[in-house]
Amino acid sequence: MVIPADERHAVRMRLLVDYTSQSFGSEHPSPFGSSIYDATTGEVVAEAYDTVMRGCDPTSHAEVNAIRKATTKRQRLSLRGCILYSTCEPCPMCMSACIWAELDAVVYGASTMEDANRYWPQSSDMTPRELSDRARLALSCELIPHVERGLCQQLFLHCDQVRAKRGLQLPPNRGQSLA
Ligand SMILES: [Zn+2]
Repeated sequence: MVIPADERHAVRMRLLVDYTSQSFGSEHPSPFGSSIYDATTGEVVAEAYDTVMRGCDPTSHAEVNAIRKATTKRQRLSLRGCILYSTCEPCPMCMSACIWAELDAVVYGASTMEDANRYWPQSSDMTPRELSDRARLALSCELIPHVERGLCQQLFLHCDQVRAKRGLQLPPNRGQSLA
């Protein structure tokens, strides 16, 4: 039986939410997770969550981490033929990385400004659509928004509760030393 694309996206997003919630038991709980699938074979190529705090690296967002894992694994710069999933609408840095990586599509759950920004202050309100509309590559990156959005919203809320219970400050604490 062939599974319709939207159901396939929903299944993969639910798996990603489970994967991302594993970070809640770590030193730096994060609701931002990303996975990359081969669109033809259905194989999971990479999974990652954000490691900004762990690595003291403001560029280590989940999507960038997943792209790095996938290109390293495949030893190819292009991820043409692959789909990236993210629990949240990609920021301009991550969407640019998706375009550079030539991903076929980006599927995301929560919205940046309406959802994520309630818990994690966002540095930009430029939408991934604005960036993808200006991509100059022959094949552009399709955007599929709000897949399992409610589940991703719950992930953000749950992460906030975990952080509050443990007395963790909201990142990024940009002016403070992480040491
Ligand atoms: Zn990002």
